[in-house]
Amino acid sequence: MREYRQARWGEPLIFELGREDRVGFAVSPLEPELEDAVDISELVPSGMLREKPPGLPEVSEIEVLRHFIHLSQMNYSVSSGIIYPLGSCTMKYNPVVNEVLAGHPKITGVHPDQDPSTVQGTLEFMYKLQEGFLEVTGMDAATLQPAAGAHGEYTGILLIRAYHADRGELETRTEIIIPDSAHGTNPASAMMAGFKIVEVPSDEDGGVDLEALRIVVGPKTAGLMLTNPNTLGIFDSNIAKIAEIVHGAGGLMYYDGANLNAVMGKCRPGDMGFDIVHVNLHKTFSTPHGGGGPGSGPVGVKAFLADYIPVPVIEEADGVYSLSWDRPKTIGKVHGYNGNVGPILRAYTYILTLGGEGLKLASELSVLNSNYIAEKLKNVRGLSLPYAEGKPRMHEAVLSASGMAEETGVRALNVSKKLLDYGIHAPTTYFPLIVPEALMIEPTETEPLEALDEFMEAVKAISDLAYSDPDVVLEAPVNTTIGRLDEPRAAHPRTICLSWRIYCNMPP
Ligand SMILES: *Cc1c(COP(=O)(O)O)cnc(C)c1O
Repeated sequence: MREYRQARWGEPLIFELGREDRVGFAVSPLEPELEDAVDISELVPSGMLREKPPGLPEVSEIEVLRHFIHLSQMNYSVSSGIIYPLGSCTMKYNPVVNEVLAGHPKITGVHPDQDPSTVQGTLEFMYKLQEGFLEVTGMDAATLQPAAGAHGEYTGILLIRAYHADRGELETRTEIIIPDSAHGTNPASAMMAGFKIVEVPSDEDGGVDLEALRIVVGPKTAGLMLTNPNTLGIFDSNIAKIAEIVHGAGGLMYYDGANLNAVMGKCRPGDMGFDIVHVNLHKTFSTPHGGGGPGSGPVGVKAFLADYIPVPVIEEADGVYSLSWDRPKTIGKVHGYNGNVGPILRAYTYILTLGGEGLKLASELSVLNSNYIAEKLKNVRGLSLPYAEGKPRMHEAVLSASGMAEETGVRALNVSKKLLDYGIHAPTTYFPLIVPEALMIEPTETEPLEALDEFMEAVKAISDLAYSDPDVVLEAPVNTTIGRLDEPRAAHPRTICLSWRIYCNMPP
């Protein structure tokens, strides 16, 4: 296996590189005739004028360039690491052509306040992406406004509210049903929209327990939120029955399609009985994510909910695109403007590049890759594959390290930390909550066989170490930029340090 060492702290920082009077960029002097005309004290209020120089590093251009390249190399990325197995996040390779188009000045130079007649091209690709989104999900009307998956969920739950309110049933329909395998954003979104959360347990196949569902569904049910395949990577084949139970009680079906990587081109939430769906364009439809956005979580609805969707709605007539505000029952706007255009264009580019058959193939390969990993890793000493024994996984698989934890003291967290020493990103750890010592692995379709094998070789090596020399695993990581963190302290807003000053011992 390859030797791996990342750049580390302790290598010179930009302040240590600096030398007084070294210059990287010079502002041209004022034209002599302007010098008299401009009186700085008139332009800037006196209280805001700086009395001392700002204390910036004095460095040359090449030093700045090296500094930032060096910082970028301290990061892990899908373009530099061998595999990014972070389950539920779909860290697939994002084709460069998407970036070229999304960064084009004709796209980035457009202002969202421009009159629609001057931005026909932007409205056209937004409309066409919307058409593709409706086709892939099996829905009838959509909004591109939500700026993330959780934002899409919140929008969707507001639509459920509006629907029941319109029928005079909001007072009684106060509950949203959510399975115990759900992503944490689901209960949070439903709660923020004013609903009470009712949890249903999973059965041993990892799907919704139908008996338990029948007990909780009733006249108080506003709707059910479900991810299918769920966070265990298991497709709930009872979905038609689930929809029948919920609809039978007057509730609506919400599909959390944050991750569509197993089903796009194969089956559609609209055909499974769902009424509302959101999709994370920044996962399945390839936008770099993980650094905090921007993302895009469009929401699609069946025709009977189309009156409630956010305004303005992008419309087309005779080749002319417009923004329609004519929806008297709308829930209103959920975004300052019309959505995040960058991820929308990337998704559109991605769909055009792959085509219908290509999308289907991407789903098939992602499922193949995750089953390859699940089947091999479940035989690694100390690991197991809980739920739905003998059944295939979809785009991801959740292994449990509980055997290893009991036998060696090496827990899932330690396995994840040790993977970093091999130059591999950690899987999602301790989620979903229903699997003890969970390692949630999503390889995605863009990983070659060799990368999958190298990843599994590293997991196998860590298992061997756990049983022979567990302390080596417990001390990990030792090869990374930053070693083992004091996690509660690192996450605490009072102690987290986001400034260079602490490293340079400079006064704040
Ligand atoms: C990622 C994810 C979300 C949340 O999406 P954000 O864009 O991070 O808000 C919701 N549900 C599932 C299943 C997810 O994987």
